[in-house]
Amino acid sequence: MNADWGLQAPGLPVPHFFGTRTTPLQVQGFIELGSVTEGPAEAPCLATLKQIHSTRAVLLKSPVTTGPLPVQEGDALVTNHPDTLILVRTADCVPVLLVDDRAGVVAAIHAGWRGAVAGIVPDTIAICVKEFHSHPESLKAAIGPSIGPCCYEVDAPVIDPMRARYPDWPGVLEETGPGKARLDLKRLIRHQLLHEGVAPEAIDMVNLCTHCRADLFYSYRREGQVIGTMFSGVMLSAGGWGR
Ligand SMILES: [Zn+2]
Repeated sequence: MNADWGLQAPGLPVPHFFGTRTTPLQVQGFIELGSVTEGPAEAPCLATLKQIHSTRAVLLKSPVTTGPLPVQEGDALVTNHPDTLILVRTADCVPVLLVDDRAGVVAAIHAGWRGAVAGIVPDTIAICVKEFHSHPESLKAAIGPSIGPCCYEVDAPVIDPMRARYPDWPGVLEETGPGKARLDLKRLIRHQLLHEGVAPEAIDMVNLCTHCRADLFYSYRREGQVIGTMFSGVMLSAGGWGR
């Protein structure tokens, strides 16, 4: 996966990318949501979900074959199958990629505020642990471009469930007025990863705001509608590391 596909996280030891407005066009032509499809040479199989802002992580256990997925709706994909690029789509939500190169498993997560607050990141780690004997301390994680606290003011319907579930995580919500606060979703997810036992030095963050950087990203909040989304993905390579 070369730089044309998108932004890279230096700490991930496998092929991966965080898409931008322009780059993953060569991927999109192949994609059918909720399916495994044949991809370009660099990524022989592409897997995507129909995303629903849930905490449902879908397991794609090896061997993987092309066609509609048995479970088509969800917001995280987990696989131990090589050469299968698992993809998520985001426009302001957070793409999160996980790799355990010892256990041989990767995960791609779409985390908006609903999914993040409800715990899609810990739930996905739990599947890596249960199904592939992954250990959180050997996980490497990358948190991708998303709307930043600079541009993400939220109100009671977001603030109340956040405060109820995570009262002790400073810096995630910063009050801006009565019933208003700035939400730092990337920081929330970093807290969750640390809480699950991922080492601080194993977490990369591409600290760019999709709303500020119109030159690089689509933003649902800026554009007021979906005019485009970015794909991000991660893949175990059969060519191999640690297998
Ligand atoms: Zn911003």
